[in-house]
Amino acid sequence: MYRKHSLNDTLTSFRGLSFPYTRRKGSPLRYTATVGIGGNLGDVKRRFQHLFFHLQKEKHVVLLQTSLILKNPPFGYTNQDDFFNSIMIIKTNMQAKDFLAYLMRLEKKFGRTRSFPNAPRTLDLDIIFFDNKIINTKKLTLPHPAWSQRESVVIPLASLHQ
Ligand code: AMP
Repeated sequence: MYRKHSLNDTLTSFRGLSFPYTRRKGSPLRYTATVGIGGNLGDVKRRFQHLFFHLQKEKHVVLLQTSLILKNPPFGYTNQDDFFNSIMIIKTNMQAKDFLAYLMRLEKKFGRTRSFPNAPRTLDLDIIFFDNKIINTKKLTLPHPAWSQRESVVIPLASLHQ
């Protein structure tokens, strides 16, 4: 069950049991990753819920917070369904590049297929921030490029508890 709220003509927020969510206890794990999650194929909110339960069972990560879910229009390739996006705050001891590899395994597990850039997707996981690290390698750019221009990142981020 989600409470739906229209923000304007194109943006809608959804709030439910696990989005937004704040864990009561903190975590001693070393790094704090801000992870953007998104998708526009099938029942995305249900997939987010499955991801939430999955992460809570994982040993090497602690899920600290989730944001509301934002439904928003696609950019780039626009002839596709609206996207659902949310933010998760995750603690981990993994280094950034290992954490990226871990997220890519999760994308696979949740059925992501890659066809062409900006194509419809079941689950997209992006590292937006990793502590305050700045990284520019072929595989990893941190902070995530253009995060501040994306409503799909900024609006969920602003809904997090400080
Ligand atoms: P995408 O199709 O948007 O999921 O892009 C995935 C590719 O972007 C991966 O091959 C990553 O190596 C690369 N990438 C670069 N920076 C990041 C980042 N901050 N978070 C996630 N993927 C990244």
